[in-house]
Amino acid sequence: MARRRVERVEHAEVLVVGGGAAGMSAALACDDRHVRLLVTGEPGGDGASALAQGGIAAALAADDSPRLHAADTLAAGGGLADPRAVEILTAAAGEAIRRLQGLGARFDVDARGRLALGREGAHGRSRIVHARGDATGAEISRALGSAVRSRPRVAVESGVTAHELIRRGGAVCGVLARDRHGAWVAFVAPAVVLCTGGIGRLYAETTNPPSASGDGLAMAARAGAALIDLEFVQFHPTALAVAGDPRPLLTEALRGAGALLVDGAGRRFLPEVDERAELAPRDVVARAIHQLLERGGRAYLDGRAAIGDAWPERFPSVFAICRRHALDPRRDLLPVSPAAHYHMGGVATGLTGRTSLPGLWAAGEVACTGVHGSNRLASNSLLECLVFGARAGEDAARSARLGRAPLVSSTDLEVPAADRRRPGLERRIRRLMTARVGVVRRAAPLRAALDELESLRGAAAAADRVGRNLWTVARLVSRAALERTESAGSHFRLDAAAPATAAGYRLALTLDPRSGAVGLERVPVGDVRRQVRR
Ligand SMILES: Cc1cc2nc3c(=O)[nH]c(=O)nc-3n(C[C@H](O)[C@H](O)[C@H](O)COP(=O)(O)OP(=O)(O)OC[C@H]3O[C@@H](n4cnc5c(N)ncnc54)[C@H](O)[C@@H]3O)c2cc1C
Repeated sequence: MARRRVERVEHAEVLVVGGGAAGMSAALACDDRHVRLLVTGEPGGDGASALAQGGIAAALAADDSPRLHAADTLAAGGGLADPRAVEILTAAAGEAIRRLQGLGARFDVDARGRLALGREGAHGRSRIVHARGDATGAEISRALGSAVRSRPRVAVESGVTAHELIRRGGAVCGVLARDRHGAWVAFVAPAVVLCTGGIGRLYAETTNPPSASGDGLAMAARAGAALIDLEFVQFHPTALAVAGDPRPLLTEALRGAGALLVDGAGRRFLPEVDERAELAPRDVVARAIHQLLERGGRAYLDGRAAIGDAWPERFPSVFAICRRHALDPRRDLLPVSPAAHYHMGGVATGLTGRTSLPGLWAAGEVACTGVHGSNRLASNSLLECLVFGARAGEDAARSARLGRAPLVSSTDLEVPAADRRRPGLERRIRRLMTARVGVVRRAAPLRAALDELESLRGAAAAADRVGRNLWTVARLVSRAALERTESAGSHFRLDAAAPATAAGYRLALTLDPRSGAVGLERVPVGDVRRQVRR
């Protein structure tokens, strides 16, 4: 860090960092507080939220209930999800959908005008609310974005990139950021809500947008926040196997609609792996495809019979993606392979988004509320953003009302010295994560990943925000993956010593702000909330 001055200090009562579904939900829930919403691009523009295809899970059908939705969520979580957080999530789903409709979101309806509910893997009922077939994320981002812009007390700070959290006396009280002109700005507030999204860019093969570089996780780690479940990275089984970064996604709803997975000989291979076949949980399907590809085989999604001529109407986004790659899903098999898709782990939070650090909240994919356990149930993440984003915003606003404006002046802040993009470093980190900390894991490659990351310490220190953050998060994820020696959900150890059941603990990690050493603690499931502020 060099002694360079920030150019201005901006105040707010609540700072929300990130303009995806979680950040916008948090900002809208701050009631009449003065909020600044910091976002690298535009709200709803450059995160994962706008890309979501499948939809939002909500128990709305006559044969469904929040209790059944909770049971499916807990089962997918493999014994490591937090039952209280899951109960809150599933009970609030109907209200979250109605709130979105109130903001103008238009969801698909059936012939009788009721919400059309789709089916996805590991859901026992049809409960996926969707918009324009497979453009749900774009529709809710549009509705939330226009609501955020219409609120006079929410100042949208577009083109602003957060680099570090500002702390005073152990509490987080702001964010050091660069504006669209490259000027350093200190945004200061008694309450900061991190909503920066996931970590997919850590992997060479990902469905995530470039903004998913783990910024929030790395900033929180460097500030000393407790992190949890970092080893649990979900790989989506059916990314379209074409060149490109990110890789286009073929939504799970396609398999819900009857599309099949076949090998190079046109033979289904999932029924012999799991009785739920194409509707088995994502980790099971991803591993089956990974192992087929490792043996030199090929995997294809076949939606010709199940969807046929209805492709353009039922799945317009996926159909357009296929056409861009010279594939016609009405006639062609679609080549697929797994890609990093979602991070179940994150900054440890309680039920209102509070983290272990005073002044800091987190929501959305950067956070870990515990609702997903070791494996996320499809379409539960947008729901989590809506429900827990709003809860974090409400709690942060309440707390800001009682808090004092922090005293921070531009002269007592240091800005990062290094700011050079290092594409070579990024490429190396992403390759090593895909090869060694991927769909299946073993101790020796995990150790090799950690050794290689150690050899890149100097390069990371001299890199820009993205290089530094990718390196920090890669180290933490690899360390957690090495520590959990048994398989659990998305974390599959080929060399597992214990049977493939979740041993009843969760891994909490902290980074020592001075030495950079990683601290690890095994926390009993259900006891995680003692990690965070009450
Ligand atoms: C292709 C795809 C399809 C998906 N489909 C579904 C689905 O159908 N259903 C479902 O439930 N989930 C789905 N998911 C997962 C879901 O979309 C994400 O988990 C969710 O949208 C995350 O929302 P978020 O608000 O936490 O983050 P994001 O929507 O990713 O938003 C993060 C925001 O933070 C900003 N940001 C990041 N770093 C900084 C920084 N340093 N400074 C300032 N701003 C920053 C970004 O610009 C962005 O605005 C899908 C994901 C992908 C990638």
